[in-house]
Amino acid sequence: MQNPLTPEVLADPVALTRALVDIESVSLNEKAIADCVEEVLRGVPHLTTYRHSNTVMARTDLGRAQRVVLAGHLDTVPLNGNFPSTMRGDLMYGCGTSDMKSGVAFALHLAVTLPDPRYDVTYFFYEAEEIESKYNGLTLVAQSHPEWLEADFAVLLEPTYGIVEAGCQGTMRAVVTTHGERAHAARSWHGVNAIHGASEVLRRLTTYDARRVTIEGCDYREGLNAVRITGGVAGNVIPDRCQIEINYRYAPDRDPAGAEAHLREVFAGFELEVTDAAAGAPPGLDSAAAQEFLAAVGAAPIGKLGWTDVARFAAMGIPALNFGPGDPNLAHHKDEHVELTKIRDGAATLHRWLAPA
Ligand SMILES: [Zn+2]
Repeated sequence: MQNPLTPEVLADPVALTRALVDIESVSLNEKAIADCVEEVLRGVPHLTTYRHSNTVMARTDLGRAQRVVLAGHLDTVPLNGNFPSTMRGDLMYGCGTSDMKSGVAFALHLAVTLPDPRYDVTYFFYEAEEIESKYNGLTLVAQSHPEWLEADFAVLLEPTYGIVEAGCQGTMRAVVTTHGERAHAARSWHGVNAIHGASEVLRRLTTYDARRVTIEGCDYREGLNAVRITGGVAGNVIPDRCQIEINYRYAPDRDPAGAEAHLREVFAGFELEVTDAAAGAPPGLDSAAAQEFLAAVGAAPIGKLGWTDVARFAAMGIPALNFGPGDPNLAHHKDEHVELTKIRDGAATLHRWLAPA
């Protein structure tokens, strides 16, 4: 295949977004796009380029006092009749336009066109963000080449509609189990109905008063919800077991241990098992690089409500935020699209921030 990422395409973030969208890269099928990106970066004299699996990293080594990361994932969710891209006026439609090839285009455009950024920059183009964490390119790099991730500040180019979404909420899944005793439904008084026992769990959820937490001026709104319920043996049996799966999104002033302790408090008296947990990330806006980034954007940051890879950087002590042109509400939708003006404005913002003073 001829590399569609030609010098003319790389010079224009809009054309570059479109070219990236038109290389199909559903999770675990990123080889073709990673090959194209790697080939481009290897040809850039001011960058040193490395590859691990289908994750490509390129960095400047200018001896600057600080290093920043610009990172974007190359994969998309499965296609949904929205490939290749189409244009309608000022909108580009297609799988990955918002989440997040327009953000990837920012990083690739800057990597190629900015030989002398004011910070040293590490550019990450990584695989498998949209699926289980064990496949995530940053997980794999953290295991095999942790030194690649060293930096003072990181920007994840996930869709934020052109504003700064700082930090991210933590997420926890847990299962609450109620127990009973089986009996024939004709003589139900001999048993204990575990599904009826779940009503108290549901009552605590429906009356739960979720917190709103403000950290460094960013609002994080929590959520505690039942997302699945299972139970029942047969049409004539009183059930002896019911399980309610809980999803808890918590503000980054709580760590996973604090979140679990809170769930145990809310569901006191019930059996509770935590099945999955990921820590959130505080906004991390006080570093000099972050402050300069905010000044370049020129709009107040808000809290990120979803979980993103900023938490991975935060866990390594690297403040990180989200900034990208796509609308996060359109991510993973069939009619996913991005506004061309958001691509142009965002690319200009990043250039303002990184260009030599
Ligand atoms: Zn994404």
